[in-house]
Amino acid sequence: MPKPKTTLISAGRFPGAVATVNPPIQRASTVLFNSLDEMEAVQTKFSRGERAATYGIANMPLTNACEDALLAIEGGHRAMFFPSGLAAVSAALLASVKSGDHVLMVDSCYAPTRALCNTTLARFGVDTQFYEPTIGENIAALMRPNTRVVYLESPGSLTFDVQDVPSIARVAHRHGARVILDNAWATGLYFDAFAHGVDMVVQPATKYHAGHSDLLVGAVIANDAAWADLRETAMSLGQTTSPDDLYLLLRSLRTLPTRLSAHATAAMKVATHLQARPEVARVLYPALPSDPGYALWKRDFTGASGLFGVELKPAPHAALAAMIDGYDHFGLGYSWGGYESLVMLWSHRRHDPAARAARPWTGGPLLRYHIGLEDVDDLIDDLDAGFARLAQAAAR
Ligand SMILES: *Cc1c(COP(=O)(O)O)cnc(C)c1O
Repeated sequence: MPKPKTTLISAGRFPGAVATVNPPIQRASTVLFNSLDEMEAVQTKFSRGERAATYGIANMPLTNACEDALLAIEGGHRAMFFPSGLAAVSAALLASVKSGDHVLMVDSCYAPTRALCNTTLARFGVDTQFYEPTIGENIAALMRPNTRVVYLESPGSLTFDVQDVPSIARVAHRHGARVILDNAWATGLYFDAFAHGVDMVVQPATKYHAGHSDLLVGAVIANDAAWADLRETAMSLGQTTSPDDLYLLLRSLRTLPTRLSAHATAAMKVATHLQARPEVARVLYPALPSDPGYALWKRDFTGASGLFGVELKPAPHAALAAMIDGYDHFGLGYSWGGYESLVMLWSHRRHDPAARAARPWTGGPLLRYHIGLEDVDDLIDDLDAGFARLAQAAAR
């Protein structure tokens, strides 16, 4: 059996009229059939959930090709693609709950996931309770007879808390609940979600999978048992992804293992450097032995990606602005996972996406760095120059 990284390179390759390494982009709403018999046969296969294309919305060649490549990375039974990562989050939840159900949502979730629970799901009579990311098997105390979903994100957005996924999954399954994991940070390459008890994986493929900051796309990967619910919900919501976007995604997936390991090596070097800086209170990166999540990360993950948090010692806002605005190589912007380095400041003075239901952030200024594929020494020089600006502005 070839390893996932090898399977990934040729998975889903299909020849067009002329044999090329890469597939043709086939745009379609209508799919044509040669006869009524063929049309009915394809329709029957489609109804059974097989990969039969009756219409451009599903099972088109590029969708199938992307699914093959994605499954090589993530494991799982089947996958569905969505126009964004958030659409994938929504679909996974909507596929798993009904009115009157209870959802246990990790408190360190991506902020729009929290909003989805508090608005749309609440409107349909689904009750969400937020739990501490480090709860582990104590989640048993929160399980109710109507708990349908335990939702995890590990490491969590902004604070990078590592969750004990197998323990939480065991408890959830004992109570008949489904386990959904947003696996954006590690991808299936560095955290094998299905082997750790997860039923549905949400992938904001916009991030590392797409990897070039030019594409919004999401995926949900389901195990055998969850697949029918996922397919039904995705189809009834009319979710689809354009062949042009899927082409870009497939092209990017080929290099994901190589890109991710380069992000990881550079991030470790930068995180270690930052940890030694006097301006830094702590670095939130599970691959550092000083991180509270290190033991779980070491046990369950096979790598660390290029995204981490940095808590600074208290500093005036103007000094933080001087530090950030002057960076040469760290762009200021949302999202991450592209080939370029980025920085974000989650200020607790303005709208604060780190606001938690259970335990609000009380530390110093919280930054998030994404380490790109630039030369890492240039990145370190840039960060050090930033600290010089911070000190200069703070002294004024
Ligand atoms: C970015 C992100 C999403 C949403 O992805 P989009 O494609 O931007 O909608 C979901 N979860 C996490 C953890 C993310 O970082």
